[in-house]
Amino acid sequence: MTDVVKAMRGFIADIGPNVALSLESCVHCGQCAEACQFYVQTGDPRYTPIHKVELFKQTYHREMGPFSFAYKFFGFAPALTAETLTNWQDLVYDSCNMCGRCSLICPMGIDIADLVEQTRHGMYEAGLAPADFLGAIAEKEHGTGSPFGLTSEKFRDLLHEIGTAHNVVMHVDEPAAEIVPTVSSIDVKTYPGSMAAIAKILNHIGLSWSFRTDGFDADNVSLTAGDRAGQSAITESIVKAAISCGAKILVMPECGHSFTEMRWEAANAYGKDLPFRVLQITELVAENIESGKIRVNKAPHAATYHDACQLSRRGGATEAPRIILHALGVDLHELEDAGDANWCCGGGGGVALIKRAQPLRDAAFAIKKKQIEATATPIVYTSCSGCRQTLDHGGKAASWTTTVGSLMELVADNLAS
Ligand code: SF4
Ligand code: SF4
Repeated sequence: MTDVVKAMRGFIADIGPNVALSLESCVHCGQCAEACQFYVQTGDPRYTPIHKVELFKQTYHREMGPFSFAYKFFGFAPALTAETLTNWQDLVYDSCNMCGRCSLICPMGIDIADLVEQTRHGMYEAGLAPADFLGAIAEKEHGTGSPFGLTSEKFRDLLHEIGTAHNVVMHVDEPAAEIVPTVSSIDVKTYPGSMAAIAKILNHIGLSWSFRTDGFDADNVSLTAGDRAGQSAITESIVKAAISCGAKILVMPECGHSFTEMRWEAANAYGKDLPFRVLQITELVAENIESGKIRVNKAPHAATYHDACQLSRRGGATEAPRIILHALGVDLHELEDAGDANWCCGGGGGVALIKRAQPLRDAAFAIKKKQIEATATPIVYTSCSGCRQTLDHGGKAASWTTTVGSLMELVADNLAS
């Protein structure tokens, strides 16, 4: 049952000076609409980005804004109801991949994607996260009580199996390690080759490194669901595990949302500066290629690259994959709008988890499909397993001959001896 009071409290808990400034600043220019793939592909004004946070905004004006009395008295900001909250569920979850394209375009500098994330907090607390999210969280937090239903022992066994299958030495729970890699649940379930590739690359670099079975779940379904407590618990377990072995670098896997969470939010959850650097794996590889610690053979072929929104626009790792592709001698055919202005694959922000969002997802994917096909290259690389999965599914549905490849697997296959 929808808990209206919890929704209101959840919204209010997120409203500080920065959020208030954002909610006061919109000049209703409508430019964010043209940046959003869900609006562009459907023409439905409900999908205008700033409209998606309207209930959050109304709560601010009604309960906390400087003219809250007037907003209440004249009915400019109606009180939340179970009906309005339920009507907004698809706007806050199904039709927002938190890609931040709207935030990039807004002339007032409003981070609308961030406001959507905060709106999800109140929706989650009201019991309005889609059932698909709740199922995923339940799988992670209940049952065995460990991420993906894996105990530490099972994760250790899994790493051993992957190491054997891919002929790579896995370091696990070493007492001291300069580099600590984390994993994504999508890689665990679908693309273990990406985990093996990262292990091969770390062995090649030659510094001490180790997976930690007490903090490895980089995938943060709780973040996209709006579950603040779950989000912090996952982040804190990784931070503690990295600190316990003296890590200097925490490496985020081929995964988008986990990277922005750890890069921008982890210090807040920890309460002070992190005692290590947080690098996405493409950044670590690019740095080590440039310093000469990673040596790769040339692998000339034509390809394109899909930027995951959370790695490029939201994360700042836009150049790193291009440094890597250049070092490998790949003939890179950039997508239209490549880099920080890229379009989402269609499945980010947990939209890929929501079954009923399939038609919206397909509409969003159509932009990416058209752009990839326009490059006429046989392979599209990416460094996000979520994007890889969405591109794989979309390509299969479209009977693509284009292959979707992991950038790290390409690097691992071409390490110089
Ligand atoms: S974050 Fe992306 S999907 Fe969400 S409203 Fe903004 S542009 Fe649309
Ligand atoms: S682009 Fe910014 S100012 Fe313009 S309508 Fe959207 S949120 Fe408001």
